[in-house]
Amino acid sequence: MAAEDASFAELGLDPRLLQSVAALGWRRPTLIQAEAVPLALEGKDVLARARTGSGKTGAFALPLLHRILRAKEAAASSASQAVRGLVLVPTRELGQQATQMLRGLSACCARDLRVADLSGPQDLAAQRPILMEKPDVVVGTPSRVLAHLQGPSLSLQESLEVLVMDEADLLFSFGFEEDLKSLLCHLPKIYQTFVMSATFNEDVQALKELVLHNPVILKLQESQLPDSSQLSQFQIQCETEEDKFLLLYVLLKLSLVRGKLILFVGTIERCYRLKLFLEQFSIPACVLNSELPVKSRCHIISQFNKGFYDYIIATDEQDLVDAEGLKEGRRRKKSRSKSARGEKSRDQEYGISRGIDFQNVSAVLNFDVPPSVESYIHRAGRTARADNPGTVLTFVSPSERPLLGTIESALTGDSTETPLQPYQFRMDEVEGLRYRCQDAMRSVTKQAIKEARLREIKEELLNSEKLKTYFEDNPRDWDLLRHDKPLHPAVVKAHLRNVPEYLMPPTLRAVARPLLGKQKRLPPRGNKGQKNPLCSFSSAKQRRQTSATKSTAVPGPSDP
Ligand code: AMP
Repeated sequence: MAAEDASFAELGLDPRLLQSVAALGWRRPTLIQAEAVPLALEGKDVLARARTGSGKTGAFALPLLHRILRAKEAAASSASQAVRGLVLVPTRELGQQATQMLRGLSACCARDLRVADLSGPQDLAAQRPILMEKPDVVVGTPSRVLAHLQGPSLSLQESLEVLVMDEADLLFSFGFEEDLKSLLCHLPKIYQTFVMSATFNEDVQALKELVLHNPVILKLQESQLPDSSQLSQFQIQCETEEDKFLLLYVLLKLSLVRGKLILFVGTIERCYRLKLFLEQFSIPACVLNSELPVKSRCHIISQFNKGFYDYIIATDEQDLVDAEGLKEGRRRKKSRSKSARGEKSRDQEYGISRGIDFQNVSAVLNFDVPPSVESYIHRAGRTARADNPGTVLTFVSPSERPLLGTIESALTGDSTETPLQPYQFRMDEVEGLRYRCQDAMRSVTKQAIKEARLREIKEELLNSEKLKTYFEDNPRDWDLLRHDKPLHPAVVKAHLRNVPEYLMPPTLRAVARPLLGKQKRLPPRGNKGQKNPLCSFSSAKQRRQTSATKSTAVPGPSDP
C-alpha cells in the first residue's frame, strides 16, 4: 500500500491519540506522517526533510506521545511521572506552536500527559515550579533548556526517552550550536531522536553526527512548495515604487484580494510605512517584527489564527541576515555590541517566515521581493498549508527584477514553465485613484514612521509586561486587546476612507467590493474548501484562455 493511502488507524497509535487526531479533523496522515510514524514507533531514529506545512509537527509529536503513554503504563507508579520528551525549537513562536500541537494531539489523554513550554516570555524563576512537577514533555529553545539543566529544576539524565529537533537547520544558523553541544552532555546515553529540517545542509549534517544513531533518512519526493493546483503564484511588474503602493491600495480597498493576507516587506521601517499608508485609507493591519516583545508576537499570531485580523505586515529579517552570509555567532556578538551602543535590540529568536503555522492564509503578498529563493519558499509556505488552497503575489520594481529572475530560475528548475505566472494589471484603469495614493504617501513621512515605531513598541511593552498579571487574571480582556489599532502619527484624511463611485474603475465595478471606512469585525472565517480567494485575479495565461475578457479583473466562479 502506498504511504499516501494509509489511514491513521493503521499506524498503530494509542487509541486516545487517534481520538485527538479525529477531534482535530485530520482525516488522513500527510505523506511525512505516513512515512515517519511507523518508523518512529519501531524505535528508529529519524532524520526527515519536510517542507513547512507538510504536517511535520504531527509526524514527530504522535510517536513521541505514543511512546510516553506506553512508558507511563509500564513504569511503577512512583516512577511514572518524569520528563521523557524534549522538543528543541529555534524560535519562541515555534515553541508555542509545537506546544499547542502537542496539547491538541494529547487532548484526549490530557490528564496523563502534560506539556510545558519553556520558550515563553517568563523568566527562569517563574518556570521552575512548572518543571518541579515533571511535565512529560518539555519544549524550548536550546539556550533556555540548557539554563534549566544547569540549575536544579531540570534533569534529564535518568528520564529522557525521546529528543526532537524541529526546524533543525535553523538551530545552528540561529547560533545555538554551543548551547546544543553543552545541552547534549546533560542527556542520557541512549534515547531516540527525531530531527526535522526543511533543508539538508552542512549544519544538519553536523547535527546528524552529534545526535542521531544510525537514522532512517526520509527525503520525501515532494517539492518545496505545493503544486499549481493548490498554490497559485503570480508576479506583478511595477514600473515605480509608487505603483506598488497604488496597486496595494486598489487590491485591498476594492477587495480584489480577499481573505487573510500576510504582506512581507524587507525592513522594519517598511512595515510601519505600509501600516501608516493603509491607515490613511482606514485599512487596519498589524505589524510583526523582531522589535516587538515576544508575548505580543505570539498574541498577534494567535489572534490572527482566530480570525481577529485580516492583514499582517511582517519582515523576515532573519533570512535577510542569512542571505548576507553572516553567521549567527557573529550576529549575536554584533547585537550585543549594538545594545551596548544603545541601539534598539532585536530578538535573535524571531523568525516569522520559518515554520510558523499561520492558519487559513488566503494569500502571501511579497510587497518587496524576498532576498533569496529560500526566503521566497518560506514566505510562500505561510499559505496553502495542509490541503488548503493559497496564492503568492510578488510585486516587482525595476531594481528588483534581477533578484526575482534568480528566484524564478531556481524555482523553475528543469521545468519548461515558470511557476510565477505574470500578472499584467492594467494600471491605466486605476489612474483615477493615483492622486489619493500620492496624498497618502506624502502623509507618511520619515518622522511619522519613527514616531509610529516607537509608539507601537511602547504600547506593546506595556501590553506585554506591565499588564501581564492583569491579563493573566482577566484572560477575556487579553483576548479583546487588539494589535491593529491606528498609530496615527500621520493625520488621517477622512475623505480617503471610502472610494467614491465616480473613481471606481469601470471594468472593476462588477467584482470590486469597496471596504467601508468603518469596518465591523467579521466573525473568524476559514478558507478551507473555498475556491482560490483571488477569485478576481487572472494571470496572463488564464487571460489567453479567456481572451474575451478585457477587464483588469475577472469575476471568479464564486462571484455573483
Ligand atoms: P506543520 O507542517 O506541522 O506546521 O503543519 C501544518 C498544518 O497542517 C497545521 O495547521 C496542522 O494542523 C495541519 N495538519 C497536520 N497534519 C494534518 C493532517 N493529517 N490532516 C490535516 N491537517 C493536518
